[in-house]
Amino acid sequence: MKNLKIAIQKSGRLNEKSVQLLKNCGLDFENYKSSLITTVSNFNLEILFLRDDDIPGYVEEGIADLGIVGENVIDETESKVTYLQRLGFGKCTLKLAIPKDSDIQDLKDLNGKSIATSYPVILQNFLAEYNIQADIQEISGSVEIAPGLGLSDAICDIVSTGGTLKSNGLKPFADVRKSEAILIGRDGLEENEILCELLQRIQSVLRAKETKYVVLNVEKSNLPLITELLHGVKSPTVVPLAEEGWVAVHTVISEDDFWGKINRLKSAGAQGIVVMPIEKIIL
Ligand code: ATP
Ligand code: ZN
Repeated sequence: MKNLKIAIQKSGRLNEKSVQLLKNCGLDFENYKSSLITTVSNFNLEILFLRDDDIPGYVEEGIADLGIVGENVIDETESKVTYLQRLGFGKCTLKLAIPKDSDIQDLKDLNGKSIATSYPVILQNFLAEYNIQADIQEISGSVEIAPGLGLSDAICDIVSTGGTLKSNGLKPFADVRKSEAILIGRDGLEENEILCELLQRIQSVLRAKETKYVVLNVEKSNLPLITELLHGVKSPTVVPLAEEGWVAVHTVISEDDFWGKINRLKSAGAQGIVVMPIEKIIL
């Protein structure tokens, strides 16, 4: 079978998590050092290490079959690629920000103002949606210093914590677009067997990340309360303990309501609660 090629970022914010995801899928390969391409030894896949900006274009043209990249980059390059799977990392928001003492109060106050950004396409589409005419100043890096230098009245940039904005005397003003890392594919790949296998592995890794394996001990008389609280993959496994009248309950619960559930389990009589990470969940 012909190998598929997947493009991932060679260094930067998405590199480590992209590599980790593929490794968690059981793929064995050498991480990027100096070669642009590496072969997975136990799966029909080659990995291309690229700058993130180049990934959507490579996939669109079919030079790579698959790619892992931020939605922001896909939108900015306006590439025609298929969204295959959200990956839950690389989360960030593209925001408009203005100087702390700015007189801009409303989106419409941006009319006639200048906005510095590295994302001119996304910003232009956003402004068009709100019928705003502003002057977009495209700059490639350190966008947050533009207002201080008198280059622009506002900026549009990726913000995760807001610390950089603050230290440059800026405050967030409006969200333009949320983004996370996505697995994308070229057209016509949907039925490919290698892709189906890879997608299944990725999904089982993602499912496992959202859930925990929980083991706890409880007196038999309290068991109905506990099982009611736990709606696992199926019903929980109940195993008798050496001590008369006690059982161990094994189940899988979602990370989301983790703490809420643990406390409710404790008040329902659960003891010796052990929580473990899960590597994969195969449905
Ligand atoms: P490259 O050298 O590959 O072009 P880059 O400098 O353009 O890298 P990075 O800063 O490594 O890009 O960010 C890659 C992606 O990570 C972004 O496009 C975005 O989707 C995501 N990301 C998540 N959090 C942040 C953040 N705080 N700042 C910037 N990007 C972020
Ligand atoms: Zn980039």
